[in-house]
Amino acid sequence: LNNEVVMGTIRLKEDLDISKNYDVEIEGYARKTAIPTGIFDSLDFIENQTYDGDDLGAVLHGGETTFKVWAPTASRVVLNLYEAGDGGEAFLSVDMEQGEKGVWSSTQPVGHGTYYTYTVTTAMGEQETADPYAKAVGVNGDRGMVIDLDSTDPENWASDAFADNIETYRDAVIWEVHVRDFSNRIADSKYPGKYLAFTETGLKNASGEPVGVDYLVDLGVTHVHLQPVYDYATVDETVSNTFNWGYDPKNYNAPEGSYSTDPFHGEVRVNEFKQMVQALHAKGLAVVMDVVYNHTFDKNASFNKIVPYYYYRYTATGENSDGSGCGNETASERKMFRKFMVDSVTYWANEYHIDGFRFDLMGLHDLETMQAIEQAVHAINPKAILYGEGWTGGTSTLQTNRQAIQANIREIKASEGAAGGVAVFNDAIRDGLKGSVFNALDKGYISGDPSKGRAAAVAFGIEGGGGNTQAWKVDDAMVINYMSSHDNRTLWDKITNANPDATDEQKAAMVRLGAAIVMLSKGTPFWLAGEEMLRTKGGNGNSYNASDAVNNLDWDALVPGSLAASTRDWYRSLIALRKAYAFLRNADVTCQVLSDASIAVTYSENGEVLGIALINPHEAAIGYTLPDGAWGILQNGDSVTLNPDETISGNVEVPAMGVLLVVPVR
Ligand code: CA
Repeated sequence: LNNEVVMGTIRLKEDLDISKNYDVEIEGYARKTAIPTGIFDSLDFIENQTYDGDDLGAVLHGGETTFKVWAPTASRVVLNLYEAGDGGEAFLSVDMEQGEKGVWSSTQPVGHGTYYTYTVTTAMGEQETADPYAKAVGVNGDRGMVIDLDSTDPENWASDAFADNIETYRDAVIWEVHVRDFSNRIADSKYPGKYLAFTETGLKNASGEPVGVDYLVDLGVTHVHLQPVYDYATVDETVSNTFNWGYDPKNYNAPEGSYSTDPFHGEVRVNEFKQMVQALHAKGLAVVMDVVYNHTFDKNASFNKIVPYYYYRYTATGENSDGSGCGNETASERKMFRKFMVDSVTYWANEYHIDGFRFDLMGLHDLETMQAIEQAVHAINPKAILYGEGWTGGTSTLQTNRQAIQANIREIKASEGAAGGVAVFNDAIRDGLKGSVFNALDKGYISGDPSKGRAAAVAFGIEGGGGNTQAWKVDDAMVINYMSSHDNRTLWDKITNANPDATDEQKAAMVRLGAAIVMLSKGTPFWLAGEEMLRTKGGNGNSYNASDAVNNLDWDALVPGSLAASTRDWYRSLIALRKAYAFLRNADVTCQVLSDASIAVTYSENGEVLGIALINPHEAAIGYTLPDGAWGILQNGDSVTLNPDETISGNVEVPAMGVLLVVPVR
C-alpha cells in the first residue's frame, strides 16, 4: 500500500517446475508473480540448461531442414510451417521434440522459401512467435524463413572482402547515414530509399554535382555507418510509406524489409543488402552497422515468448528495468543472450562482410560481453571497428562497475593485432564545441562561448580522451570525436538555435572551425551525413519518426558557390590533410589552453615536435609566437595545403575563427 518493499528468502522443500509461474503472497501485501531470476542465475540452470551449439534456428541440409529453438522453460513447442511470410494457414503444425540443454528440435522435408513460426507453451500461456535466430523473415518479420544463404550471394560475392583501409581506428573517418535519408531525394535514383541506391553511380543533383556513393568517394570518408538495418518493428513493410530511425529491433539477424524492393520474399532483402555492401567495398568504403541489442521493441518480443523473463532485467518489484528509456532492457550477462549477441555480430561479419559495429546504449551491456564481442569480431577481421555509446538511457539494474560505460571502457582490451578495442563516443568534445545537447540555447567553444571551460573539454578530445579533465578517460585514443549524430539537432540547427542573430556566413564559419578541430584531434572523427553541407532538419531535435521531408538529405543544397558546397569542400580538404599527415592521427598530442582560451596543440613523437596547431575561437585574429625555426603552413584559416612551401617564423597571426597548422621545415 505504501510501496514498501519486503526483502527476504523463501526456501522450498521441493524443486520448482520451471515451466510454471509462481506467485508470492504475504498477508497484508499484494500478490506478485515471482520473476525466476534466481533460477536462471543458479549453477544448476547454467550447467544443465545452457546450450553452446551453433545450430539454433533453421538449418538446411540435403533437402530437409532442422529447426532448433532454445526453450528450457517451455512445456510444449509446436513448429508451424507456412507457404508465405504472411496470411494463410500453416500447412503443417507439428510438436517439436525436447532434447538436451533446453533445446527443442524438429526435422522436416522442406527447404528454401518455407516460412515458419513456433507456438510455445510456457507459464505465460500459449504464444506464437517468430524465431529470434531466423536469418530471413517474411514481411514485417512475423515469420522466419528457411534460407539457402549461398543462393542470395550476388555475382562475384566470393571475391568481395572486408574493406582494408585502416591500420588503426584513428585512420577511420566515419559518415553516419540512414538508408532512406541517403537516397530518398535523389531525383534520378532508380531505388530511392533502398539498399540498392548504394549500388548506383553517376547520380547528380539538380546542379550537376555528384551525389550518392560517388559523392562519398569524392569526399574521402572511409566508413559508411548505417543506422539500423536489421529488421525493426515500426515501419509497415507492406506499404513502407513512413519513416523511422529503426531503434526498435524485431529480428536481429535479418535485414529490414522496407529498404528492399520486395519485403514479401525473405531472400530479396538478403541479396540486396549484400549488393549494397559489395558496391561500397568496390569503392573502397567500409560498412558499419548500428546494432541495438540493449532492448527490444516490445517487452514481450519473440525472446520473451519463448523463454519468459530470461532475456531481460527486472527490478526488485518485478518491473522491467528500463535503462534504455524504451520500456525494457536486455540481460547481456545471461549466457544465452551474451552468446546471441556474439553469434549475431559474427554472423553479420561473416555472411554480409560488415566491417564494424556501433553499439547503441552500450552501457547496458556488461564488460565481459563487450570483450567477448571484441575478441570474436577481431578474430574474423582484425580491422573491424567497434564503438558505442558509453552510457545508458536511464537507470539500469546492471551494477555500475560491470557496465560498458565511458568510466569503465579502459577495462576492455584490444586483441593482439587488432586495429583497436572498443571505442566510446566523446560527448565532452561534442558539447564542448557546440554546447549541451540538452539545452537548445547553450553555446559552445565554436558557437559563441570561447571560454576556458569549453576549451578544456575540447582539448580532452584533441588529446584523444586520455587526459584528466573529465570524469572518465580512455587508453589508446579509443574515442569517437564528433559534433553531430542522428540524435538531437543537426549541427547547423543547434548553432542556429543558440545564435539566432548570426548570419549564415558566421554560422558556416563556426561549422568549419568545429570540423577543423575534430579532424585535427586524436581519436576517430565522425559526423552525421550532411553536417558537411550544413544539413538542417528545420530545428527538429528528435526526428526518429518525423517525415521524410524533415529527415531526407537535401542533395540539391549543393549548389556551386553556395555555403553548403564550400563547406563540403572544406571537409574534403580536411580529410585529405588528415590522411596525408600521419602525425595528426598517431603522434602524442598535448594541448595548452592559453589565457584567452585559444588552444595551442603540439604533436610530437619521442620528444620531437612534428606539428603545431593554433586554434582561435574568437572573431578577431590573435597573435602567437612560434618556437624558433622555420615552419611550413598546412592550414591557415580557409586554406588547406598539402605542400607546405610557404614558411613562416616568429610572431604569427592566427586568423579569426580559424586554425593555423604548421610543421617544422628541415
Ligand atoms: Ca521491419
